Amino acid sequence: MKLNGRSEFQIIDFIRSRCRLSPELLQGIGDDCAVAGIPEGHVLLTTTDLLAEGIHFDQRWSDLFTLGRKSVSVNVSDLAAMGARPRFLFLSLAIPETLQTEDIEQFISGFMDACESYGAVLAGGDTCASKSGLVVSVTAQGITPESAWIPRSGAREGDAVYVTGTLGDSALALRHLLAAEKPDPFLLRRHIDPEARSEIGAKLAAAAVPTAMVDVSDGLIGDFEHILEESETGGEIDLTRLPLSKGFQRELADTPGLIELALTGGEDYELLFAAPPEHETEIARMGREIGTPISRIGKIHSAGFGLKLFDHKGEVPLPHRSGYKHFSETT
Ligand code: ADP
Ligand code: MG
Repeated sequence: MKLNGRSEFQIIDFIRSRCRLSPELLQGIGDDCAVAGIPEGHVLLTTTDLLAEGIHFDQRWSDLFTLGRKSVSVNVSDLAAMGARPRFLFLSLAIPETLQTEDIEQFISGFMDACESYGAVLAGGDTCASKSGLVVSVTAQGITPESAWIPRSGAREGDAVYVTGTLGDSALALRHLLAAEKPDPFLLRRHIDPEARSEIGAKLAAAAVPTAMVDVSDGLIGDFEHILEESETGGEIDLTRLPLSKGFQRELADTPGLIELALTGGEDYELLFAAPPEHETEIARMGREIGTPISRIGKIHSAGFGLKLFDHKGEVPLPHRSGYKHFSETT
């Protein structure tokens, strides 16, 4: 197969030449399968995400290096949501004719850069041609002690609800990009190059603090609903406690309706978790140590309570749209 003058094998050779080896990986790229050992008493967690050009990304506002980084981060975020650090990644690419060799190399460099920063190694993948845009599929695997992974289903009445970082930045940047406006650089970075909360997710899980956890990829409300449904509980969020960045707050001051982006916008890649209230000081300490703010934003109730939002005046109706819609569907 020829890909813009390069054979599939030249591309794989290039990828392989950029790969770091890992002692845990008995066989990486170059055989029919990757082979890795799993220490006794540990479990393997596997997640996969597909990014299709025109649906999940747009080369008008993300260069290929940054896209390579993001394709790693969104997968690492899913592992973080279960309390695992990434170990092995698999990268499958469908490459269109229009993509230049340098573009592919840029993508791989960004991918490797993010692998390095999260401590993961690329262990294999697949490469083929595409007739309609770039398609990137990444699979990520993590290994944790058998008892240390965090499900969505463990929240209990009386737990407090926490979220890392800030909400709505990515969605606000995307709104500007779709309107052909230039977003604030901080907001843009949050959209095109999000950082997965790998360290804090693993630390919280190792300390057995969260009873339930998800990453906020589809919007706070939608992802909170996932915890409530899986845990068979109700819950509340206090809107006055939502963590918002300075850039977001500046625009919110002029346009109060933007608050919906912090609730339903999506692609925040923050961690949302429930934990018994007695862990409050420990959670704050972990956040400080890692340099990631963690805010208490709500409470878990019994199932009959449903999902409610409150502000300083009392209960407010749920926003109409909960859950992220890909940008091609919103335009
Ligand atoms: P097969 O035909 O047996 O599927 P391939 O020729 O597709 O093998 O792949 C050869 C080796 O290169 C395998 O180890 C595979 O995991 C690896 N590989 C192929 N494409 C990629 C990629 N995009 N990223 C990382 N590894 C890759
Ligand atoms: Mg193959």
